[in-house]
Amino acid sequence: MDYFGLAQKYDTPLYIYDFDKIALRYSDLKQAFSGRKSLVCYAVKANSNLSLLKFLASLGAGFDCVSVGEIKRALIAGAKPYQMIFSGVGKRDDEIKYALTNDIFMINLESEAELERVENIARELQKVARISIRVNPDVDANTHPYISTGLNENKFGVDIDTAKKMYIKAKKSDNLQPIGIHFHIGSQITDISSIIQASGIVSKLLTELKSVDIDIKFFDIGGGIGIVYNDERDVSLYDYAQGILKNLSGHDITIVCEPGRFLVGNAGEFLTKVLYEKRNKDKRFVIVDGAMNDLLRPSLYNAYHGISVVGKDKDHTICDVVGPICESGDFLAKNIKLPICESGDLIVVKSAGAYGFSMSSNYNTRPRVAEVAIISNKDKLIRKRESFDDVIALEKECLE
Ligand SMILES: *Cc1c(COP(=O)(O)O)cnc(C)c1O
Repeated sequence: MDYFGLAQKYDTPLYIYDFDKIALRYSDLKQAFSGRKSLVCYAVKANSNLSLLKFLASLGAGFDCVSVGEIKRALIAGAKPYQMIFSGVGKRDDEIKYALTNDIFMINLESEAELERVENIARELQKVARISIRVNPDVDANTHPYISTGLNENKFGVDIDTAKKMYIKAKKSDNLQPIGIHFHIGSQITDISSIIQASGIVSKLLTELKSVDIDIKFFDIGGGIGIVYNDERDVSLYDYAQGILKNLSGHDITIVCEPGRFLVGNAGEFLTKVLYEKRNKDKRFVIVDGAMNDLLRPSLYNAYHGISVVGKDKDHTICDVVGPICESGDFLAKNIKLPICESGDLIVVKSAGAYGFSMSSNYNTRPRVAEVAIISNKDKLIRKRESFDDVIALEKECLE
């Protein structure tokens, strides 16, 4: 990759995504479930760039959306409504209405109150809402607590008994059609036995539902497949798929999965420029032009990202790589070994394609950075760098 060329052309900081890698990941996952009907619904929140969504739609992907904004993005990008899912623990009325009017394939319900709300709105619109219920299987995903979602102590989904009650209620309703069953127990899961265990618990419920004539057609296993950031082991997609399918033998059911990080995480890099080297007593800092507002994961989850200095690979010493933001939590890496840098050196932060740009903000009045796609070795701007005027535009309107 010609990082210097890209930096010159687009400036830094910069997100770079390799679309060919994304395509490979997508086909690997489809392949793992081949022989079964399957639908891969990309979790838009991981990286919601329109060009990226359009690219995934062209591969045949569906989309998992958690807000009306994400639904609108996916539709603009050419997503097919019958391949879209609306998830999320707190959906507003207008969002539910939008999903129903646009015939979004399935709404994942996360509480009894939400079931009633969706039923009422569907009745008003004289529609039948296709629904699925997010079951919280109370399984520990063994991941960071902020991204663990499948325990009873988490806010997500409903327990098995509540789910049963909700399915029976939905079945009786003229405006609800239960077609799916759903779980998602967390993110960055590298020990997939937890997902497989969850699928076993949820498939038991599936069998029970069949016995009372509730015919579920879609088994939605959520996302959460972990990727390699550091020394994790690659998840075997074969084991993942086979483990889940084994729990579904005898059921004629379509597998739905909602990968976010897995499809885009390793395909993205964050490029940033060294501003200064600095020492406070014995502590070495490399100060770069990228910051926590651009890539929040290190600050938020203490997440590790591999980092290298372009063109330099000698005389490594320990340092922190930090941004210009006025927070001690503003770092991209802590206590890592890097060569001594000079102002103008380029630093590549690896595996930044998921939950990177999509979590970025304008904190410290920093315009959000540009995004570039690499498609068959060609670079293409897919989001312009924000200008100062972009950042203040909505306030300016109110100044007069
Ligand atoms: C966040 C989320 C996903 C995607 O998670 P990844 O770990 O990025 O694969 C899928 N489904 C739901 C319901 C989510 O909230």
